[in-house]
Amino acid sequence: MRKTDRKLSDIISTVIAYAVLSGPVIILVVVMAFSCYEKAKSTITFHSPFEKKVYYTVDGEFYHESKDCPVLENSSRVYSAYKKDLTGKTPCEECSGRN
Ligand SMILES: [Zn+2]
Repeated sequence: MRKTDRKLSDIISTVIAYAVLSGPVIILVVVMAFSCYEKAKSTITFHSPFEKKVYYTVDGEFYHESKDCPVLENSSRVYSAYKKDLTGKTPCEECSGRN
């Protein structure tokens, strides 16, 4: 009876020791997860349905107001994105002048 009691207290003290040792690690993980979440939240931007979408190709230097722009005709892959999310691309002269 005494023997098992001592064993139990040994286990408890071991668990406490582990908790004390791993406490800072757990806090660090929680803090890191939280900062990742905050970072992810700030990169996700919400768009209104009235926001204008434009069309572009990955290697093209222009973005297009219209998907039917003749410049895009020979492109196999045309992507669409919100105008303000596109950086480093300039408006296409073919279709921006028409609108
Ligand atoms: Zn165009």
